[in-house]
Amino acid sequence: MNSDLYVTSDAKKQLTDILASFTDYSSKHLPDDVVKRLKELSEAEHSEFARIIYDAMFENMDMADRLDRPVCQDTGLVQYFVRVGTSFSYMEVIEEALRDAVLKATVSAPLRHNAVEVFDERNTGTNIGHHVPWIEWELVPNWDEIEIFMYMAGGGCSLPGMAKVLMPLEGYEGIVKFVFDRVTTLGINACPPLLVGVGIAGSAEVASKLSKKALLRPIGSVSTNPRGAMLERQIRDGLDAVGIGPGGLTGAGSVMAVHIEHAARHPATLAVGISTGCWAHRRSKIRINSKLEYEVLSHQGVTL
Ligand code: SF4
Repeated sequence: MNSDLYVTSDAKKQLTDILASFTDYSSKHLPDDVVKRLKELSEAEHSEFARIIYDAMFENMDMADRLDRPVCQDTGLVQYFVRVGTSFSYMEVIEEALRDAVLKATVSAPLRHNAVEVFDERNTGTNIGHHVPWIEWELVPNWDEIEIFMYMAGGGCSLPGMAKVLMPLEGYEGIVKFVFDRVTTLGINACPPLLVGVGIAGSAEVASKLSKKALLRPIGSVSTNPRGAMLERQIRDGLDAVGIGPGGLTGAGSVMAVHIEHAARHPATLAVGISTGCWAHRRSKIRINSKLEYEVLSHQGVTL
């Protein structure tokens, strides 16, 4: 039996409103872990110039809050990464609610119009388009709640993104070289300090998806694999030694963190993908239950 028979239009509107407010709020407030890391990086800087850039970022955040405006003019393409319980009461309407939420937030926030239809070369003017918002689904059996990551993929911070299949003998060195090449050539376009997501797998599309999922992990978390955690530290320390600094204007560090996610690979392939997040890393997380009670997990104590 179709469960949307039980979803009243009032309940669907309530769900859409929660998701729209969540998306709107996320465009204006960086998550707690990102703010904390930016403070730590700012305090670790010795260069007066780098401290000035960090101060400008904090002033930017304050003004976004006071003026109720997005933290950055590029509010990106909205992406949702959804873990939904198979018993969640709103399964049948959640996709439509997410699209409607983007439409609403585009007007309320407002969000910049960023969805350009590829073969028409036309901006839709709504932030809705073919496969936009991008939605990734994960089903959780016997659970009646939903967890949603929202990510705003800006132009600059998406620019260093790439995936490539290496010969296995290129090994860890090949992965490190690939990441350094991307960050040192295009990282400045992504408004450092960067959050660097790396995916390692057997094919390019899996490595690419894992690299984006790595950006969803909270800053301060480490790979579940000890060797993965060691590689995260080594790449982070190496990139910091390059001294890209805040805004790419040099400084003591380059990155907020390096996160690696991995999948078992084919014996004959070693695929690596990279995604980068900028200092204005608009990544938020909400949990909603079947009574439509919610908790914003990425921003402590927030009522939408
Ligand atoms: S990289 Fe980030 S901070 Fe820079 S313009 Fe793009 S969205 Fe804004």
